[in-house]
Amino acid sequence: MSKTIKGLSASPGVAIGPIWVYRPAEIFIDDGQTKQPEEEWILFLDATATARRQLQALEEKARHEIGPAEAEIFAAHQMFLEDPDLQGMIEGLIREEMLNAPAAVQNAVEGYAGAFEEMDDAYFRERAADIRDVGARLIRCLLGIDHDLNSFPDRPVIIVAEDLTPSDTVQFPKEQLLGFCTMRGGPTSHTAILARSLGLPAVVSAPVDLDFLQDDTTVILDGGSGQIVIDPSKGSLAEAEKMQEAWLAAEKSALAAAHDPAITLDGQVVEIVANIGNLADAHEALEKGAEGVGLFRTEFLFLERADMPDEEEQYLAYRDIFQVMGERPMLVRTLDIGGDKSVSYIGFEEEQNPFLGWRGIRMMDDHPHLLLTQLRALLRAGAGCDLRIMVPMVATKNEAEFGRSLLEKAQTQLRSEGLKQAQQVQYGIMIEVPSAALMAAQIIDVVDFFSIGTNDLTQYTLAVDRTNERVAHLGSPFDPAVLKLIQMTIDAAHAKNKWVGMCGEFAGQPLAVPVLLGLGLDEFSMAPTAVPGVKECIRRLSAADCKVVAEKVMEMGSADEVRAYLEKQ
Ligand code: PEP
Ligand code: MG
Repeated sequence: MSKTIKGLSASPGVAIGPIWVYRPAEIFIDDGQTKQPEEEWILFLDATATARRQLQALEEKARHEIGPAEAEIFAAHQMFLEDPDLQGMIEGLIREEMLNAPAAVQNAVEGYAGAFEEMDDAYFRERAADIRDVGARLIRCLLGIDHDLNSFPDRPVIIVAEDLTPSDTVQFPKEQLLGFCTMRGGPTSHTAILARSLGLPAVVSAPVDLDFLQDDTTVILDGGSGQIVIDPSKGSLAEAEKMQEAWLAAEKSALAAAHDPAITLDGQVVEIVANIGNLADAHEALEKGAEGVGLFRTEFLFLERADMPDEEEQYLAYRDIFQVMGERPMLVRTLDIGGDKSVSYIGFEEEQNPFLGWRGIRMMDDHPHLLLTQLRALLRAGAGCDLRIMVPMVATKNEAEFGRSLLEKAQTQLRSEGLKQAQQVQYGIMIEVPSAALMAAQIIDVVDFFSIGTNDLTQYTLAVDRTNERVAHLGSPFDPAVLKLIQMTIDAAHAKNKWVGMCGEFAGQPLAVPVLLGLGLDEFSMAPTAVPGVKECIRRLSAADCKVVAEKVMEMGSADEVRAYLEKQ
């Protein structure tokens, strides 16, 4: 009998076909004690060398078969593998706690991955899965277990699994893959990222019961809605086939036109830029047709290390990324840590409500040298670029002024030291705290632009912790309360002839585009993979019609009502 299951959308598209349930070999570790710590340590070093060779081979495979950004996943795995903190923990467990090597790896990796899971940012939380993947690889190397893909069928299948690691995902023969469905993982897990890069539909967090699923059962997997239908009726199959045809045709035409500008039917040109977090993302952004960067999250340089990167190290890292973008817009967000995304080299204390705590610009008030160093590095690396700098988590006009004063201080210092720096730098703030949106008409006087961060703006407006799955359904950016704050922000900036961008996930959702365009949003920034689809969507809209849509939506009373109306449109 047909059964429908609802998970989360991880990669759009429709797949129809037989399933194959992936059940990786279970690993059993004995009681874990040893009397020969030195021998266990040598076993660990050998396993690390084997794991390193495997990861290098996977990096090559990913580079040839998928792309440079995906190869970076395995380069990052090598970094986790060689991480001195992790190795130090393992050594301590072997030499002091007398654990054998597999037990020491298991314990250390769990502790390390757990620390990532505590972080506020979904991206970093999901890196816990990568750390566990590296740990499982090390344990397999220690126990001499091969990755068992021998039973992979010789026909195209939809893979269903409790969870998939990036290594699993890359090792499956890609010509036999129709789509993925996992019980665990979020939309920013690497499996989801890989599925998107492969252009395969994927659903995550789907409550399927693997014990009752038979290989070869036919399913419809709708990656866009996050729905899977097991054993569908003939009618559902026919309908899904039509949807699949339409999706394939739309994908083809969006990709073919990815490098053309996004111009509405009535001639309005819309700036489409990308959110990036590292060098590989910058390359991917250009490949997918982004016209620049609308959010460069700089945290990658600061996390997972024991001390703060100095100005020179930051300068070199930023310069490499800025060079990829050339003269295209490059909007950088200064360090956004604090709350529960902490680093060891600044004095963090336990907080009851970390999201309402010491975070973003608030932390810089106590550590201005941190922001000043970063600003100096950015200005130096940005010489010759269209550099835009913004600060996160601003709640008041004072904080916006504070950021600007530090930027000016950095500019003056560099000038007096005779160092080259970016010219005509635009300064802005993220609008992600409701008070900043409410005060936008006053704050606009001290900035050149706003960029709306709907991920946090939604959490703070609706009092919905963005990391709490239990209340996640209550926090939608389609809620008219959030839309009203977006409207206030845009109106306040336009009244002073300044521009507004959006770098929250909302800007990359085709369903939101008509409303945002109608409200007058000037710049849309999104994950690189969303660029072709959003550009295509804008080309089918008229800015004048979108104004009417936005006005209608502003009168509605709930997120559901807004969504239903937009879906009908
Ligand atoms: C946001 O809050 O919308 C945003 C883009 O920032 P982050 O997701 O990094 O908090
Ligand atoms: Mg944010």
